[in-house]
Amino acid sequence: MEPAPSRPRRRLPRDAYVEGVLRGDRTILSRAITLIESLHAEDIELAQDVLEQCLPYSGDSIRVGITGVPGAGKSSLIEVLGVYLTGERAEKVAVLAVDPSSQVSRGSILGDKTRMETLANDDRAFIRPSPSGGSLGGVARRTRETMLLCEAAGYRNVLVETVGVGQSETAVRSMVDFFLLLMLAGAGDELQGMKRGIVEMTDLIAFNKADGNNRAKAEAARREYESALHLFSVSGTGWTPRVITCSARAREGIAEIWDAVLEHNAWLSSTGQLAGYRQQQVKSWMYELIEQALRDEFLQHAGVREKLASYEQDVLAGRLSPFRAARRLIRIYTENPS
Ligand code: GDP
Repeated sequence: MEPAPSRPRRRLPRDAYVEGVLRGDRTILSRAITLIESLHAEDIELAQDVLEQCLPYSGDSIRVGITGVPGAGKSSLIEVLGVYLTGERAEKVAVLAVDPSSQVSRGSILGDKTRMETLANDDRAFIRPSPSGGSLGGVARRTRETMLLCEAAGYRNVLVETVGVGQSETAVRSMVDFFLLLMLAGAGDELQGMKRGIVEMTDLIAFNKADGNNRAKAEAARREYESALHLFSVSGTGWTPRVITCSARAREGIAEIWDAVLEHNAWLSSTGQLAGYRQQQVKSWMYELIEQALRDEFLQHAGVREKLASYEQDVLAGRLSPFRAARRLIRIYTENPS
C-alpha cells in the first residue's frame, strides 16, 4: 500500500517527477500522485505541469471500474484478480478507488492495510487508496489523474473500485472502458443496483461468493439475470452485458472475468468505439475541471464568503428559499469580480 500523505514532503523539480513516472519508479509515482492530491496553489500548478508532460504517454491501458454494495467482496475480488494479472498474465496492475466518504482517520475502502495484503506486496501492483476529502467531483478528478500517471508509469491495467452508493458509480463509469458489478444472490436486487440504474451501465455482472452452500443460489441468480438482461435494451454500444458467477474465496471465475474484459476491449476496438469512449472520458475530465475551478473560485470569492454562512442559515430557518439564496450569491459573485 502506497502512503498517501496530505501534502508533498518536499517538492521535486518538474522533470524529476516526469522522468521518474515514465521510468516506472514507484516512489516518484507515489510522490507525483501526492502532488496531484495537494490543495496548495503552488502544488496545483506544478501538478498540472507534470500531468501535461505525462499525458502523451497515458491511455494505453485497460480501464475497469468495479462496484457493488459494501460486503459484496470487491476488495477480495480485486486482490485475487490483481494476483491473477501479475502472476499468470505477468502484467502490471494499478488499483485505485473513488470513495468520497473516505477520510484518512476513518480509513478508506482501500486504506485498510489488512486488505489486499498479497497484492500490496506485489512488485507488479500499485495500490493507491481513494483521495480523501472534498466533493465527489474533486475525488473523481484526482483518481482520474492518478490513473493517467499510472498509465504513463507503465501500468497497462487499471482497476478502479467504487463504493456502491450514490453518485460515485457514475463518476467512475465516466473514466473507465468496462464496468463490473459485483452482486450477491438473494441480497435484494433493488439495493444492489437494479433500481438505481447501475445495471444499465454495467458490462458484466458477477454473482460473487458462489462457493459452499451458496453456489446453487448464485447459479440460479445468474440464470435469472441472464434471461432478464436479454430483455434489456442494451446501451448504445451494442454490447450485451454478461452474467457469471465467481468466488473470490475459491478463486473461481477470475479468468472468466478477465476474458470478458479482454473480449469487450477487442470488441470496442474493432467497432471503432474505443476511441469514442476515450474522447468521452477526456470530455468528462474537462467538464470536471471546469466545474471544480468555478466552484473553488466561487467559494473563495470574498463577497460570497462574507454572505454564504448567513444565507445558509436563512435557508435552514425557512426565511429564504434555496433558489433565491443561490441566485443572490451567484449575483454577488458575477457582479463583483474579485
Ligand atoms: P467489499 O466491502 O465489497 O470490499 O467486500 P470484502 O472484499 O471486504 O468482503 C466482505 C466479506 O465477504 C469478507 O468477510 C470476505 O471474506 C467475504 N468474501 C469476499 N469474497 C467472498 C467469496 O467469494 N466467498 C465467500 N464465501 N466470502 C467472500
